[in-house]
Amino acid sequence: MNIYDFTEEKLRQYFISKGENPAKAKIMINNLYKKRITDFNDISEFGNKIKMMLKSDFSIEPLNLVSKTSCPDTHKFLFELCDGHTIESVLMKHDYGNGICISSQVGCNMNCAFCESGKLKKVRNLTPGEMIQQILEVEKITNESISNIAIMGIGEPFDNYENIIGFTEIAANQSGLGFGYNKITISTCGIVPKIIEYSKRETVCNLAISLHAPNNSIRNEIMPINKKYPIEQLIDAVQQYTESNNKKATFAYIMLKGVNDSDECAYKLCNLIKDIRCYVNLIPYNKTSSSCFDKSDKDRISSFYDILKKHNINVIVRREFGSELQAACGQLKASKKD
Ligand code: SAH
Repeated sequence: MNIYDFTEEKLRQYFISKGENPAKAKIMINNLYKKRITDFNDISEFGNKIKMMLKSDFSIEPLNLVSKTSCPDTHKFLFELCDGHTIESVLMKHDYGNGICISSQVGCNMNCAFCESGKLKKVRNLTPGEMIQQILEVEKITNESISNIAIMGIGEPFDNYENIIGFTEIAANQSGLGFGYNKITISTCGIVPKIIEYSKRETVCNLAISLHAPNNSIRNEIMPINKKYPIEQLIDAVQQYTESNNKKATFAYIMLKGVNDSDECAYKLCNLIKDIRCYVNLIPYNKTSSSCFDKSDKDRISSFYDILKKHNINVIVRREFGSELQAACGQLKASKKD
């Protein structure tokens, strides 16, 4: 068992099952996430018997760093998991702090036409601990502290629902990494029933939706998930999230030349989201070697942006992070595979 998969409550149950005082769970959590120990021997509060027991029941092995590439403000990491599969994480430095983008699955089954991850096909889900470990390792390697987490790397988080819930519990709560739910963003391509289920939870993270199109005809072409959950259902689900949690949602919109970037698309988008409390992030497309899409021209992006602004939509054009590094979703792994 991976020790990082365990919430404090699960550790309490573990210690009880071993006939030990459940208060040891708190000590364990403190050592893992405050002191950041990487060896059970370093837990000064525990005697030899408990250390031996932990060593035989749990692994505490870190993720194995395969490669790190950097350009100003962006560092990209390829990690090897204990079964040899690889995943990627990206650290982005902003004026207001450091953001990490973590992977949630090995590969992805969503098959979005513009995205490299879909070409990797899902091999398996990541466990909560494997997501936690990406944060621990990146902080350790870079000696930087992270302020925001985005589940926006390889994988579809809502196709790995239970583990995402487990991860956010450990990442958000004080009995874990203590980020708080407001510092974590879950990005989904639009698995509607899961968005609705998630919206009903007592405490929720920020939600980002990879929208990328203003209507079904364009969205069906570039995002197969839309054939299962059409755009109207998606917008309704997002509205349930914003209203029942009193939060804004973020719509991500990759600008693809000649595909979704016309003024007409901008007007349609305004109409689609007019009743939703939201932000829109326009994202310059990060061109991949095998891709048949192109990045929209700068003035096309400006014109699209202006239309949204005029309709009083909170819109920004996202700064391009790591395009030299191919840091967009799945690009690192895909290029390694070649
Ligand atoms: N499956 C989730 C999270 C992973 S994708 C989701 O769909 O939201 C993370 C974001 O990167 C998505 O918005 C995705 O559409 C975007 N993305 C993928 N490939 C990209 C590229 N080449 N350039 C820019 N953004 C890209």
